[in-house]
Amino acid sequence: AKACGRNNFQFFAAAMNTRVREHLELENRLRQALARHELSLHYQPQYDLQSGRLSGCEALMRWHNPELGQVAPDKFIPIAEDSGLILPLGEWALNEACRQVMAWQAQGLPLLSVAVNVSAVQFRHADLAAMVERVLRSSGLPPALLELELTESVLAENLEQVNATLQRLKQLGVRLAMDDFGTGYSSLAYLKHFKLDTLKIDRSFVSDLPGSSDNAALAITIIGMARSLGMTCIAEGIETMAQHDFLRGHGCTHGQGYRLSKPLASAAMAELLATSSRH
Ligand code: C2E
Ligand code: CA
Ligand code: CA
Ligand code: CA
Repeated sequence: AKACGRNNFQFFAAAMNTRVREHLELENRLRQALARHELSLHYQPQYDLQSGRLSGCEALMRWHNPELGQVAPDKFIPIAEDSGLILPLGEWALNEACRQVMAWQAQGLPLLSVAVNVSAVQFRHADLAAMVERVLRSSGLPPALLELELTESVLAENLEQVNATLQRLKQLGVRLAMDDFGTGYSSLAYLKHFKLDTLKIDRSFVSDLPGSSDNAALAITIIGMARSLGMTCIAEGIETMAQHDFLRGHGCTHGQGYRLSKPLASAAMAELLATSSRH
């Protein structure tokens, strides 16, 4: 038993070591990713479910490292958050998204609104409102076309500081969205108190619609809640026609997901914009 315990420990230590080393290696490479131009944004179209029209897009970060290949955001965003790298990366993403929307307009394409993910770490540590103001000014993007996607964990922190930051962001004229709604700890009271503009129904509630009666009930409840609070409601992760029809039928106003479009590189998004403006 003793030998076995020791073996387990050695196995565990070796596995730990590998994980720590992997983490450090990723962090070191990520540290250089910005300067080496390894980051880009993809844009996932968002649609008005009732009219079928393009209504905006969500900017999603992509990292291509020459040695590692494509690294998924679910892998590198947490590392960026732990190391503080999310501050420069998040500022870069915001700036790039705003710049891109204005560049499309300069090419004669229609102006469209863009949603950018904001990490709770950015919300906590940086002077977020000042950074957003700076980016809006330098890009020239009309503030109403920018939506910041916040997660529920942001609202669970120091209420006064959260309140002050949200007020400053609102004064800038940007829109605020609650991302992944239903997966965290947010209460109805928070939602009402902070007067956010948009509620995004998390993919986990959409994935087995309409088959799961639990998720169907939850989705209908969230849609009703958004409506009664005067919020726009966006369903995420719509993959099937059945999900699409269910959500539209129950009054969900907006949606995004592979059924409508995958996230697109900027050139492909520009093509989509060109065709959508001809309708
Ligand atoms: P998220 O904000 O919830 O973004 C939605 C994710 O779902 C994206 O994954 C998107 O590609 C994926 N998705 C969209 N439609 C579908 C669908 O129909 N089916 C499925 N299975 N997936 C779909 P992605 O791009 O890998 O990003 C993962 C997460 O990484 C994001 O989740 C977000 O939390 C984070 N992230 C991505 N870019 C940024 C960023 O610029 N800043 C910050 N702070 N976080 C980011
Ligand atoms: Ca998001
Ligand atoms: Ca989400
Ligand atoms: Ca998510």
